[in-house]
Amino acid sequence: MSCNQCKKVTWAEYDELFVCIYCKRQNVKTTTRCCVEVELEDASGSILATLFGKNAENMLSCSAKQLMEQTDEDGITDIESVATLSNPDNFLVHIKATTYERQGQTKNKFSVVAANEIPK
Ligand SMILES: [Zn+2]
Repeated sequence: MSCNQCKKVTWAEYDELFVCIYCKRQNVKTTTRCCVEVELEDASGSILATLFGKNAENMLSCSAKQLMEQTDEDGITDIESVATLSNPDNFLVHIKATTYERQGQTKNKFSVVAANEIPK
């Protein structure tokens, strides 16, 4: 769940009113927001990246609410019944790399900033 005003993550339940610790608004509602780990591959290799929000919904051709309704404690066991990649070989993906330190090592994480289907 995320704040429907600033889109930051919250542990409040779906449709619950809460006080957002990020944007400081009171009585804001939660909204569903996708966060999906994907492996992106091209001729140079592959990386793991995270897809958020509308980019995830567009690439998977389903809504965050549909994914939420199919999720239990074990995750989504049958994602193909909800999500489909309409054209998995032809996306132009813009990725943002973020560097961080963990246990003395420099690591990178990648977030998809934009994903657009390339017309055939
Ligand atoms: Zn907020």
